Amino acid sequence: MIYDVIVIGAGSMGIATGYNLAKAGKNVLMLDAFNPPHEEGSHHGETRIIRFAYGEGASYVPFVKRAGELWKELEALTDEALFLQTGVMNVGEETHTFIQNVKKSARLYDLALEQYSAAEAMEKWPGLSLPENFVACFEPTAGVLRVEACIRAYKKLALEAGATLHTNEKVQNIKAGEIVSVQTANNIYEAKHLVVTAGAWATELLQTVDITIPVTPTRKTFAWFEADEHLYHEDIFPAYCFEFADSAYYGFPSIDGAGLKLGRHDGGDGINPNDPLRPFDEQDAIDLQNFINRFMPQHGALKFGKPCKYSMTPDEDFIIDFLPEHQNIVIAAGFSGHGFKFSSAVGEVLADLTLNGKSKHVLSLFKLSRFKTH
Ligand SMILES: Cc1cc2nc3c(=O)[nH]c(=O)nc-3n(C[C@H](O)[C@H](O)[C@H](O)COP(=O)(O)OP(=O)(O)OC[C@H]3O[C@@H](n4cnc5c(N)ncnc54)[C@H](O)[C@@H]3O)c2cc1C
Repeated sequence: MIYDVIVIGAGSMGIATGYNLAKAGKNVLMLDAFNPPHEEGSHHGETRIIRFAYGEGASYVPFVKRAGELWKELEALTDEALFLQTGVMNVGEETHTFIQNVKKSARLYDLALEQYSAAEAMEKWPGLSLPENFVACFEPTAGVLRVEACIRAYKKLALEAGATLHTNEKVQNIKAGEIVSVQTANNIYEAKHLVVTAGAWATELLQTVDITIPVTPTRKTFAWFEADEHLYHEDIFPAYCFEFADSAYYGFPSIDGAGLKLGRHDGGDGINPNDPLRPFDEQDAIDLQNFINRFMPQHGALKFGKPCKYSMTPDEDFIIDFLPEHQNIVIAAGFSGHGFKFSSAVGEVLADLTLNGKSKHVLSLFKLSRFKTH
């Protein structure tokens, strides 16, 4: 049989795409090397920040606003609580580009943003300790997505809408053409259209069609610390992004009594995504411990940490585009550690590109042609 669309990778981006395509009445096959949600890619660890006053650049704001609408829609459709409105504070020196962008995004798009000096922020959140020259830009309508629950919700809707999902079936090879064929260990599948949403494996997979995308799979870690619930509970303390001249950290209040969660955004080692990730180790712990001792000093002991995969592009902007010379293959990759919040909107965009050849969103920031691919 020839499917209308095959989606390779049913993780954050792929499962939302599969749902949108099936909802449009298409005959969709989603293939995943594991069984999403799982801990092998980029979508585990309970929580992801969603913020609208975007520090990475104001041009992301319309896209993330649409994503926010679609998360609300997903909650309504599945009767699941997926978004937690904790607010998000963006912290750093006032002159830092990220902080400037947060303010610019809020100004341009009329987003609620409260600005606090270090002293004011420490009064509002007594669990916080900031140097005098830092500011906190607090976005009260931002918050946290329950990442695995979001994926489960899209999975349920996609299957109900008639999509087929084959789990634990890794695609080894893609053959482009008017009819695209994809090969797994035991099967060959054919479709009129292909969507590649393979996360940290996108680079190796696209090499099978002679395209080299500059997406580097990278090992990252995050950890949970015991927290005084009077200071750090989700109703009291917000999610946070800290920007320094040479590093960036992000994290979460204690949600469901889990403790303070913290990760470092910059850096990390390039990896082969097929190798087992080096477990969370002493050096990872020291780095996070140094941060939390300084800025949330009333935390308790480290509980545990985990490794995870980022897919980094050189400019940290995403790739969402057709494959050069193959208008029936669309790819979405290189989400560079800030993609999850967008995945509801990415699913809509990928379905539109596949079915209509275009999207109502401005995608110029995400063009593959900004890189050399051969
Ligand atoms: C620790 C951590 C914290 C983060 N925090 C945030 C945050 O706060 N906010 C935010 O917006 N983003 C955040 N991100 C980034 C975000 O989670 C990722 O950008 C997003 O999950 C990437 O989605 P994806 O679909 O590309 O990858 P994934 O969700 O990993 O999905 C890729 C899927 O493709 C499958 N696959 C791969 N190769 C094949 C193949 N050959 N055949 C079949 N299937 C295949 C995989 O099994 C996987 O299921 C964070 C990421 C990490 C790791």
